Amino acid sequence: MRRLRNVKIVATLGPASNDYAMIKALHEAGADVFRLNMSHGSHDEIRERHRIIREIERELDSPIAILADLQGPKLRVGTFANGEEELEEGASFRLDLDEAEGTIERVRLPHPEIFAALEPGANLLVNDGKIRLKVEKCGADFADCTVVTGGTISNRKGVNVPDVVLPLAALSEKDRADLEFVCDLGIDWLALSFVQRPEDVIEARDLAKGRAAILSKIEKPSAVACFDEILKVSDGVMVARGDLGVELPVQAVPPIQKRLIRKCRSAAKPVIVATQMLESMIESPMPTRAEVSDVAAAIYEGTDAVMLSAESAAGQYPVEAVTTMNNVAEAVESDPTYREVIEASRIATSGRESVAEGIVSAAREIAETTDIKVICCFTQSGTTALLTARERPRVPIIAMTSLRGTARRLALSWGTNCIMTGELQRFKQAVVNSARAARVHGFAGTQDQIVVIAGVPFNQPGTTNILRVAPCDESLIFASDPE
Ligand code: PGA
Ligand code: MN
Repeated sequence: MRRLRNVKIVATLGPASNDYAMIKALHEAGADVFRLNMSHGSHDEIRERHRIIREIERELDSPIAILADLQGPKLRVGTFANGEEELEEGASFRLDLDEAEGTIERVRLPHPEIFAALEPGANLLVNDGKIRLKVEKCGADFADCTVVTGGTISNRKGVNVPDVVLPLAALSEKDRADLEFVCDLGIDWLALSFVQRPEDVIEARDLAKGRAAILSKIEKPSAVACFDEILKVSDGVMVARGDLGVELPVQAVPPIQKRLIRKCRSAAKPVIVATQMLESMIESPMPTRAEVSDVAAAIYEGTDAVMLSAESAAGQYPVEAVTTMNNVAEAVESDPTYREVIEASRIATSGRESVAEGIVSAAREIAETTDIKVICCFTQSGTTALLTARERPRVPIIAMTSLRGTARRLALSWGTNCIMTGELQRFKQAVVNSARAARVHGFAGTQDQIVVIAGVPFNQPGTTNILRVAPCDESLIFASDPE
C-alpha cells in the first residue's frame, strides 16, 4: 500500500486490536508493521492475529512485516498475603527465596542468580521504577534493603536491577518456547528484550536459524555501554524507552535515542523509537501537544520507525493513534527543515566502503538533479535497499525483490516501498518490470524517467554494479535497446 511518508509505523496488537476489521483498519490508517507481544496473550491468540495479518496481506497484495517481541528475562516479585503492601521511605524490606506469601517486611524474588550477583549499594527498582530499594546486606538467598522511595508494592510487580550485569540467560524457558512457536508460524522480525551483551543476540540468532531477522531492544544500561558490538550482530534496533527510563534517569533517554538513531542509520540497519509516544491516546481521541512533538522529534532525528504499544494494543482509540502518527509524519516530512537536517547528517563520501554504496549514492544524486520520479532497486538480501534508504533520497524508493521474506522485512525500513517481482535473468527485464511497477503503483507516468539499480548477474548477493536511467514507457525501453 503506497504511503505518502517515508518513516514507518509499528502497531502492537492486543485485546483492542485482535479482529480482522480492526487490524485491516490499522493497516489502512498507516500501520506497516504489526508487533505481537509475547509477554501477553496465549499462543492461540497470537496464532489468530498472525493468520489475520497474512490474510490482509494477501488480499491487498502488499507486504506487511510481523515483529514478534520476546518477553526476555523480566524479573518479578512473588505474591503478597494481602495482595499489596505500602512501603514507607526509610523502612527495611527483605527480598528472599522463601515461598511464603509476602508481608510488609519481605517478599519472594524467585531468582537465586540475582542474589548471587547483587552487592551492597545496588539499587532495585520495583513497579516501573516507582519504588526504589537500596541493598544494605545480601547473601546467597536474601537481600536486606532500605526503602529509598516508597510506594505500593503488589503481586508479581516487575523488578529492574540497573547497576548489575545480570548473570541471566538471554532467553528464558518461556522465550525459547515462544521463539520456536513464532518462528514456526512465520515471522519477519524477532525482537529480544533486555539484551545485555552481543552474545545474547548471537544466541537468539542461532536458535532462529535464519527464520527471522533479529532486532535488539536497548533497555539496559549494559546494552547502551556495548551498543556498537550489539549493533554489529543485530539486524535492527529498538530504543525501548520504557524500561530504559526505569533503569537510567529519564533525562538520560533523549540523548541515547539521538545517538542510537545516528549509529543505526550509519550502519544501514533499521531503528524503532518505542514507548509512550502517544500514551494519552489510550484513553483520549486527541494526543497531547508534547506527544505530537515527541513523535515529530524522533522523525526529525531520522528514525526508521515509530511504535505504538498500549495505544493500539489495549487503548480505546487504536485507529486514531495510527492516524495521528501518520499525520505527524506527513507534516514533518513536508517541512523543508526536515530535508535539511536529514541531508546534513548523511554519511560522508569518505565513509563509503563498497561499490554498492557508491552506486546508491550516485542513484540519489542523479534522481535529485533531474526530473526522475523514483529509484527502483533490485535486492535479494535487502542490502541494496537498506543502503538506498540510508541515503534518505528525496524521491521514493521502490525495492523490487523476488523474495517475500525480504519484502516483508524491509517494511520496517525508512522509505522502502516493496514490490514483488519474478526471478530475473536479464537486466533489461528488470528495467521493464521497474517501469511497469512505477506506473502501476502511481510513482511515475509514461512521460517520466526512473533510475534502476541492480546487481548483475542476478541472484548473487553483494553484486550491486549497475545503474541505468530509463524512460518509464516500456515501448521506449524496447525501442532504445532492441536485443
Ligand atoms: P516493552 O518494551 O514494551 O516490551 O516493555 C519496550 C520498552 O521497554 O520501552
Ligand atoms: Mn521493555
